[in-house]
Amino acid sequence: MTLQQWKNPTNIYLLIISLTGCILFVLQGISFQAFNMNEWLMFGMLVCSIILLNEYMIWLPPKGNSLSMDSAIYVATIFVFGLEIAFYVLVASSIIFALYHRKIAWWKHLFNFSIYSIMITGSFYVYTFSGGEVGAFNLDQLFSYAFTMFMYFAINVILIGLFFILSSDEKLLQGMIKDALSSYFITLVLALILGILFEAYPLFGLLIFSIITILISLVFKQYFHLYEILEEKANRDDLTGLINHGYFKELLGKQFDDKAMHPLSLCILDIDDFKKFNDYHGHLKGDHLLRRIGTILKDSCEKNKFTAARYGGEEFVILMPNTSKEEAFLFIDKLRKTLNDTYIPGVEVLPQGCISFSGGLMELGKTVYSTSEFLTKADQALYYAKAQGKNMVHIYNSEESMQHVLDVRKETELLEQKLSIFLFKDIDTYKHSKRVYKYAIHFAAKLTLSEREKKLLIMGALIHDIGKLEIPRDIINKTGRLDPYEWEMMKKHVTWGKEIISVHKDLEELIPLIELHHERLDGKGYPYGLKGKSIPKLARILCIIDSFDAMTTERPYQKTKSFDEAIEELKRCAGKQFDATYVGLFIEMIKEKYPLKLKQ
Ligand code: GH3
Ligand code: MG
Ligand code: MG
Repeated sequence: MTLQQWKNPTNIYLLIISLTGCILFVLQGISFQAFNMNEWLMFGMLVCSIILLNEYMIWLPPKGNSLSMDSAIYVATIFVFGLEIAFYVLVASSIIFALYHRKIAWWKHLFNFSIYSIMITGSFYVYTFSGGEVGAFNLDQLFSYAFTMFMYFAINVILIGLFFILSSDEKLLQGMIKDALSSYFITLVLALILGILFEAYPLFGLLIFSIITILISLVFKQYFHLYEILEEKANRDDLTGLINHGYFKELLGKQFDDKAMHPLSLCILDIDDFKKFNDYHGHLKGDHLLRRIGTILKDSCEKNKFTAARYGGEEFVILMPNTSKEEAFLFIDKLRKTLNDTYIPGVEVLPQGCISFSGGLMELGKTVYSTSEFLTKADQALYYAKAQGKNMVHIYNSEESMQHVLDVRKETELLEQKLSIFLFKDIDTYKHSKRVYKYAIHFAAKLTLSEREKKLLIMGALIHDIGKLEIPRDIINKTGRLDPYEWEMMKKHVTWGKEIISVHKDLEELIPLIELHHERLDGKGYPYGLKGKSIPKLARILCIIDSFDAMTTERPYQKTKSFDEAIEELKRCAGKQFDATYVGLFIEMIKEKYPLKLKQ
C-alpha cells in the first residue's frame, strides 16, 4: 500500500485494530511447556475443529451470508480452559488457515486474527468480572455465561460495524446486525452444550460437536442450493432462458435508484410481424424462433454487462447501465443488423424477409419520476418505430413529431389494417407508404397547418396508394418499363383508392389526398389535369413528399437519386410540377432531420 492509501480512514482503522489485536496477543505470551500429552491432544482437537468449522460454514438465504460456529468453541474454551488456551487455539488455527488460504490478502488474515484476539480478551475479562470462574460447567454461572456471550458479540458487531461505516457500506451493516442477533442465540446455546460435553467427555464431546455442526452445515448448504435453484426458476423465463418480466421490474427499480448506474438506458424490442411466422409455421416453430432470439440477445448483452429480459410474448427489453442513449443506439442497432443477418429456416415468410424488430429507446433523464414513466416513454418510441415502417430503433424525444404520431394513433389503426394487405401483395408499396408517412409526420410539425390538417396529411400519407391493391400483381411487380396500357392501368390507382376509401364515411376527408396526389401545378398531372391553386393544398404537399421518396428509393426501371440529387430535382421542378413554397420548406425539413444523408 502507498502512503496515500494509508491516509484513508478505513485503512487507518484496519491498522489500529490489527495493532491492538497483536499487542493483546503479545501481552498474553506463549508458553506451551506446561502441556501434558492429554492437553496437547485436546489442543490439537480444538484447532482442528475450528479449522473444520471455518470450512463448513452455515449458508443462509437470501443473500448467502454465512455463519461460522467456531465462536461457540472459542467461548466454551474461555469458560472451561481460560484465556491462555483460547489464545493458543486462535494463533494456531489462524496460521494454518492463512497458509491454506494464501490467496486472501495478508492484511485480511491479520485483521481477522486481531478481531478474534480483541473479542476473546474482552469477553474473558467480562466473564471473570461478572463472577464467572474458569473450570467445569456450572449452572449457577448462567448469568455470567450469557453476559460474556453478549459482550463477545457486542465487540464483534462494533468492530465490524465500524469498518462498514467507514467504507460507507451501511446496507451491509444492517444485514450483519440482523444476522448477528440470530447467530448470537445459536452460538450461546451451542457454547453451553459444548461446555457440558467438555466436562463429561472432553475429546469425544468435541468430536461429536464438530460432526453435528458439519452435518448441519451440509444440510444448510443443500437448503441454500435448493433456494438458489428456486430463485433462479422464479426469476427466469422458461422458453428463452432470459430473466422474466417480474425480475426485470425489480432490477429496473434498483438501477433506477442507484445513481452509480446512470446514465441508464432502456430499450423495448418487439419482434416484427411475429404473428405471421406463427400463423405460417405453427406455434412450436414460433417458440423455437423466440428461443434463438433470446440466445442472441443474451450473448450480445453479456459481453457489455447489459441485461436482456423477456418482457412479454414476443417483446424483449434490454437494460443498459452506465450507457448514454447514443451508445445504446449503436449497440441496439448493431443487434438489429445481427438479427437481420441471422438465417433461421422459415423467416422468408416475414414481410422483411428476415428476423427483425422495432425498438423504442429511452435514456433516463431528470424529468422521469418513476420506472413506469420510463417504460411508457420507451414504449411510445417503440410505437413510433413501428409506425415508421418497422425494423428500426427509435430514440424517444419529447418533440412535437412524437406527439403527432401518438395523437393520430387511434385514427391510423384502421388505415394500418388496410395497408397491411400490401405486406402480402406488394411489400415495396407498403414500405413506401410507411416512409411517406414518416416524412409527413416531420413535415407536418414544420408547417403552419391547423391540427385537423396535420392529421389529415399524416393519415393521407399512410394510405395514399391504397388503390394499388386493385392493380394486377404482374404489373405491380414488373421489373422492366411499363407499356402504355400498363401505365394507364397504373394511373388508375388514384381513382380506385378514392373508391376504396369512399365506403368509410369517417375517412371521407382523405379523398382529395388519395385522388389528387398525382396532379401537377402546371396541369400535366392526372387524373383531372388540375392546375395551380385548384389542386387542394394538402394534395400539393403530399405530391412533393411522395415524389421525393419515389426518387430516393430503388426501383427496377429507374436510377436511384441520392438525397442531394433529389433536392436538386425538387428545386428544378418547383413552380412547374411542385408548389415552390412547400418545396423550400420540405428541403429545410430534410436538411434538419436527415443531415447524415446529405453530402453538402
Ligand atoms: P408487429 O410487427 O406489429 O409487432 O406484429 P406482430 O405480429 O409481431 O404483433 P402482434 O402483437 O399482433 O402479435 C404478437 C404475436 O406473438 C401473437 C402471438 O401469437 C405471438 N406470441 C406471443 N407469445 C408467444 C410465444 O410464447 N410463443 C409463440 N410461438 N408465439 C407467441
Ligand atoms: Mg407485440
Ligand atoms: Mg411484434
